[in-house]
Amino acid sequence: MTITTLAAPTIQRTDALRIAEALKRAGEGMGIGREDALLLMEAADLSDLLDVAAQVRDRAKGKTVSYSKKVFIPLTHLCRDYCGYCTFRADPKPDVAAYMTQDEVLAVAKAGARAGCKEALFSLGDQPERIFPEARDALRRLGFTTTLGYLAAMARLVFETTGLLPHSNPGLMGVDDLRALKEWNVSLGLMLESISTRLKRPGRAHHRAPDKAPALRLKTIEEAGRQKIAFTTGMLIGIGEIPAERVDTILALRRLHEAHGHIQEILVQPFRAKAHTPMAAAAEPPIEDVQRTIAVTRLIVGGDMNVQSPPNLMADDYPKLLGAGINDWGGISPLTPDFINPESEWPQIHELERRTAVAGHVLRERLAIYPQFASRLEFVDARLQARLEHYRGPDSYAKTA
Ligand code: SF4
Repeated sequence: MTITTLAAPTIQRTDALRIAEALKRAGEGMGIGREDALLLMEAADLSDLLDVAAQVRDRAKGKTVSYSKKVFIPLTHLCRDYCGYCTFRADPKPDVAAYMTQDEVLAVAKAGARAGCKEALFSLGDQPERIFPEARDALRRLGFTTTLGYLAAMARLVFETTGLLPHSNPGLMGVDDLRALKEWNVSLGLMLESISTRLKRPGRAHHRAPDKAPALRLKTIEEAGRQKIAFTTGMLIGIGEIPAERVDTILALRRLHEAHGHIQEILVQPFRAKAHTPMAAAAEPPIEDVQRTIAVTRLIVGGDMNVQSPPNLMADDYPKLLGAGINDWGGISPLTPDFINPESEWPQIHELERRTAVAGHVLRERLAIYPQFASRLEFVDARLQARLEHYRGPDSYAKTA
């Protein structure tokens, strides 16, 4: 009896002390190690954790919160993967075109340019031609053998015709793909999603998704670093991973950035359950879990990294994400829906600006390449530089009219 009574407060005091020390180290803003990150993820008081993450963000980024005005071009919904949560992907159907045509791509891009967008975001399924003869036939009719080859041509077409700055998010890429895409994209993206190999087991989110093998995704992200490509990546949370795997996912991205200095943004995206998917009944991470994970992400990567979370997945609660340490809302389209999460509308930009201001921050438009990379010539192909200059203001955010 006596031992139990004495032991419990001792343990609690020890834990509280360890957490306080971890928060103190985290508050320095230089990035924390695995042990501290795990402790904060699992045991820190949420309000204390958010305060420290927001302070680290504020010291490095001030009160500026950015977004990119984009138009979304879903080049193909065909995909060789079957992620358990995805409604974007499709199998070939006789009455549905496999790829957007050049005219369709240009029509969307031109509408985006007229609406004031500066980014053309190409989003598409991963290498469908590897399993679907229909995709190979469609590509052949378009004059290509690979989806990534067609993508590079469409990025060039959009850039040369409309002046929009392309950013493509096409799944795994090899070194030749990365080189070809860099010529017509100011940045590229690939979500790591999760370092967890458990998610590839039967019944789990990535079981039928060969391109979601973490080692392959890390390889693409690392090769992008060697090719000096400004890169957007991040983590999808709530798809069956455990807290330690979230920490390890962010640590893996930090290591790649430390080695190559090319990651321009780390995105923390919550899983959303969608009807007619294998994970339709899976629980979505609550806001507190999203906030906690964003805050730990911020404290792992430190103040300088751009940390993003999309506002349209949190309904009216999205301003709460500012208090967790993000400094970017991602791409917002005044024109096209979020094809990945079509049930979640983007807020109007003026409403996003108002609610960001109410939370004490200033919304600013950035380009598809972040200010930290926009003036570094090694990251931008010579063909894109003049147009980038046209859009770029003195501090490398988007020029205001
Ligand atoms: S999430 Fe991406 S890779 Fe997975 S099925 Fe959907 S489109 Fe394919």
